[in-house]
Amino acid sequence: MNGASHLVGGVTAAMVLGIHSPAQLAVVAVSSLLPDIDRQNSLLGRCIPVLPSVLEATFGKRTLTHSIIFGLCVWLLLSIHSSWQWPFLIGYVSHLLLDVITGRVALLWPIPWKFGIPLFGIPPVFVETAAMAAWGAWMVLGGYSYFYIT
Ligand SMILES: [Zn+2]
Repeated sequence: MNGASHLVGGVTAAMVLGIHSPAQLAVVAVSSLLPDIDRQNSLLGRCIPVLPSVLEATFGKRTLTHSIIFGLCVWLLLSIHSSWQWPFLIGYVSHLLLDVITGRVALLWPIPWKFGIPLFGIPPVFVETAAMAAWGAWMVLGGYSYFYIT
């Protein structure tokens, strides 16, 4: 999925789960994009010099930064600001789930197994487009009521 889709997925999940504070939504936004810092052309990767190209060259795509161990380490680091842990988890897990249905992810890195759930062989671009269309329909039908800032 592209960055915009991850952002929409993460923020939507957070708002449905009751996150409405701007600071926590900012954490959700960053964490929903964070795994793709292993790609230079990702939404977050374009804002960070050097690191994405080093990660991509060293570990490959959808490995270290898409792993449970990486998410756990960041989650533990955020224990210094515990009100950010739940928003981080929502954004990070939403990213992994969306990547799993549109590709293959090394969730157990450094074990090289990659996990993916092919949706009836439908090409990922169609899955992403259908997901965004479903999101748009849901918004029109009242999903927008979850979207407010406190
Ligand atoms: Zn990703």
